[in-house]
Amino acid sequence: MMAPLIERFPSHCPLGHRLGGRRMLVGWDNRSDPPQRIWICGRCDIVMHSTDYPWPSAD
Ligand SMILES: [Zn+2]
Repeated sequence: MMAPLIERFPSHCPLGHRLGGRRMLVGWDNRSDPPQRIWICGRCDIVMHSTDYPWPSAD
């Protein structure tokens, strides 16, 4: 799978906290095969994997 030119990320975490900027942490899960992007909500620390959800791009 090609990496997108513009990085997409969830607009909200599953609990409804708005993400973006300092409201989230961006990580990389090397233990996955293939490795995948992860996001961590800055409010509730929930971890979101890029392959788990059909996230829309943030506005
Ligand atoms: Zn959250």
